[in-house]
Amino acid sequence: LRIFGRKPGQNHLTIEESMSYYADIDGNLLTRTMEQIRVEGNRTEDVHRIKLEDGSKRWVKVVGILEWAGETPVRMAGMLQDITEEKKSREELEASKALLDSINQNIGDGVYRSSEAEGLLYANKALVRMFGYHTLEEMKQVPSSKLYVNKDYREKLMAGAIQSGDRFHDEVEYFRKDGTTFWGSFNSTLTIEPDGTKIFDGSVRDITELRKAREEMRKAKDAAEKATQVKAEFLSTMSHEIRTPMNAVIGMTELLLMEGPRQDQLDHLQTLKFSAENLLNIINDILDYSKIEAGRIELESLEINLKELTRNIVQGFRPKARENRTTIEMEWGEGVPEIVLADRVRISQILSNLVHNAVKFTKEGCVNLCTRLVHDNEVTATIHFCVCDTGIGIPEDRQQDIFERFTQANSTITREYGGTGLGLAITKKLVELMGGSIQVKSELNKGSEFTFTLNLKKAPQDTSHQQVNENGVDAEFEFASFQGKRGLLVEDNAMNVKLAHRFLTRWDIITDVAGNGQEALDMVAKNKYDIILMDLQMPVMDGYTAAQLIRKSNPDIPILALTASVLFDVQVRIKASGMNDSILKPINPKEFNQKLQRYLSQGNTSA
Ligand code: ADP
Repeated sequence: LRIFGRKPGQNHLTIEESMSYYADIDGNLLTRTMEQIRVEGNRTEDVHRIKLEDGSKRWVKVVGILEWAGETPVRMAGMLQDITEEKKSREELEASKALLDSINQNIGDGVYRSSEAEGLLYANKALVRMFGYHTLEEMKQVPSSKLYVNKDYREKLMAGAIQSGDRFHDEVEYFRKDGTTFWGSFNSTLTIEPDGTKIFDGSVRDITELRKAREEMRKAKDAAEKATQVKAEFLSTMSHEIRTPMNAVIGMTELLLMEGPRQDQLDHLQTLKFSAENLLNIINDILDYSKIEAGRIELESLEINLKELTRNIVQGFRPKARENRTTIEMEWGEGVPEIVLADRVRISQILSNLVHNAVKFTKEGCVNLCTRLVHDNEVTATIHFCVCDTGIGIPEDRQQDIFERFTQANSTITREYGGTGLGLAITKKLVELMGGSIQVKSELNKGSEFTFTLNLKKAPQDTSHQQVNENGVDAEFEFASFQGKRGLLVEDNAMNVKLAHRFLTRWDIITDVAGNGQEALDMVAKNKYDIILMDLQMPVMDGYTAAQLIRKSNPDIPILALTASVLFDVQVRIKASGMNDSILKPINPKEFNQKLQRYLSQGNTSA
C-alpha cells in the first residue's frame, strides 16, 4: 500500500485497482504473469514501472509464486519491491562508467597501464594511435623497452620510480611503429599490489609541436638578446670612436684657450668649443637614452651641495639668457636642505635640460628655477622643483607628446631652435628613476612650467663644505699642481697621449708614457709612480689585464681608467680589474684635476 502511495484509510485494493498502476503494460498483468510462470516454472520475476496517483513514476520488482495442489495451481502469491533508488544509482554508475570510457578513448592524451614484468597491459585509442599502431593487441606485442629512443631509459626510469615510490614525469623521445620518433611528456604513478606486482598508470601527451615552438621561441629569444648585445656593443664602440676625436678637438681647444689667445682668436676658439661640446652633448644624449632604455643606469647616492649645484646651473645659462634679453633667477625655498645624498650628474642633467629649454624658448622674458620644501624629517626631505618661463609655450595637445623621444612641439621647432627632441625624454626617465614624476603646465605664448618632486636623503650633519664643491659651468676653479709627483700614462692613441700629457705636465706631474698594457707592466716594475692613467682598449695587452697584473704587486697605487664609455658594464669591469676610478674622455680639465687632487693627496709621494 505504501509503494502504491495509498492514503491512510485506503486499505483496500482490488486486483483491478492494483492493475491500473501498471501504466506501461498492454493488457492484464495478472494474465501475463500467469502465462510467464507457466513457461518459467513456479516462479517469475520482472521489473515494471508504476504510475502513482500524484503522477510520479517508480520502478518495482514483481515476484510471482504459484502454489499447486497436486497437478492443479490453486493460489498465486506475489511480492512487490520498490527498486527506484537502486535502479537510479545503477544507471548513474553506468553513465559515469560510459563517460570515463569515452573520455579515456577520445581524449588526445594517451592513457596506459603497464606492469614491470609484463609491459603494456592497457592503453586507450589515443596512445595506440600516438605510437602509430592499429590496435592495442598489436602494440602489446612490442616489448616496452623498444618504444624508447634512449634504450636504457625505461630501466632507469623504473628503477628511479621504484626507489622514490612516487608520482613522476618527464619528457621522452619515443619510437613510432614506422620507426619515426616523437617527443612525449608523461605523468605516471607507481602502485605496488599486495603480491608485489608493480603497476604503472600514466598518461602521455605528444609534445613534438610544443617542443618545436619552444625551440623556436628560444632561438628567437637568443637572437633578440644577441641583437640587444650587438646594439650595446655598437653604442659602446661608437661612443669610443666618436669621443676619441672629440676628445682631441675639445681638449686642444681648451689648451689653446689657456694659452692666452688674441681677442679674435678667442671668439673663434669659443665658437669651436661651443660647437664641439654641442655635438658631444647630442652623442651623449643618444647614448644616455639607449642606456636608460636598456635599464643600465645606476644612480649614485653621494653627498652633493644641491644649492650650489642649482646656482651653478642658473649661472651657466646666464650668458645665453642675456643673449635672449631674458632674466634668469633662482629661488631657494625656506628650509630646503642644501646638502643631500644624490646623483650629482643626473640631477644636474635634469635641471640643465629644463633650464636649457626654458632659456632656449624664451625671448625677452624671465626664467625661474625654484625649490620648495614639501615636508621633511630627520632622514629625508621631499623637495619640489619648478622651472618656469614666460616663453613661447606649448600647445595643449602636444604637452604629453614632448616627453616622447625625438618629439618636438611642432615641425618648425628644429628649424628655429634646433635640438633633437631627446632632452625631455631623458629628463622624464631620470626623474622616474629617482622615484618622481614630471609634469608640465603651459599656455601658448604665455610660458611653460615644468615641475617634479623628489624625496632625497639628507646628508649627515657633520658635512664639511669643501667636500661638495660643485664643478659648475662657470664656477671659479683653481687648478692644483702636483710638484714632485710622477705619473704613468698608458695610452696608444697619439692624439690622446699628446693631450693628456700636456695637461699633466702643465700641472707639474712628471709623466712617462707606455703604449700598451705590457709596456706599462715593464715600466711599473722598473720605476716608482704615484699614479697610473690607464686607457682600456689597447693592442698587445688591454687596460683591464694590465691593471689586474699591476695590482698584484702594487696594492695601493691609484689607477684611473681613461674611458670614453659610460656604459654600466664598462664601469663594472673597471672596478673589477682593481682600478680605483675612471676619467671620462673627452677629458674635462676640471674633473681631471679634481680626480688627481683626490688620488694624489693621499700621501703616496715618490722620493
Ligand atoms: P629639444 O629641446 O632638443 O627639441 P626636448 O625633449 O628637450 O628636445 O624638448 C622637446 C620639445 O618640447 C621641444 O622641441 C619644444 O617643442 C618643447 N619644449 C620643451 N620645453 C619647452 C619650453 N620651456 N617652452 C616651450 N616649448 C618647450
